[in-house]
Amino acid sequence: MDCIFCRIIKGEIPSTKVYEDETVYAFKDINPMAPVHVLIIPKVHIASINEVTAENSAVIAHIYEIAAKLAKELGISESGYRVVSNCGADAGQTVFHLHFHLLGGTKLKVEMC
Ligand code: 5GP
Ligand code: ZN
Repeated sequence: MDCIFCRIIKGEIPSTKVYEDETVYAFKDINPMAPVHVLIIPKVHIASINEVTAENSAVIAHIYEIAAKLAKELGISESGYRVVSNCGADAGQTVFHLHFHLLGGTKLKVEMC
């Protein structure tokens, strides 16, 4: 399987690392939509939210824990931020390795659809 985010985790494609531990990797989005735009991903390949199950969901809770930690470190925990995961074509998912956008550092537009 040729997955761009799996290759980033392996270091085959360069990225600006923000955080890493045994199960999670976080790096700056290549095309930032906000002053802070970090992608937080599980190291295990999960294609999208559609593939989250009782067996692999622990990493999702951990990702939210890391989102809170990074928001604090990046100085946006008090001003506010958004954590978003797009699933499938209608949501605009372009990379099919589950990822959570951590966005902040400006007043974000409120657009649900
Ligand atoms: P999606 O649209 O699937 O929710 O988000 C995919 C995100 O991955 C986009 O914001 C895009 O800019 C980012 N992205 C795609 N390829 C790369 C890459 O090679 N490096 C980095 N750092 N980000 C990438
Ligand atoms: Zn992958």
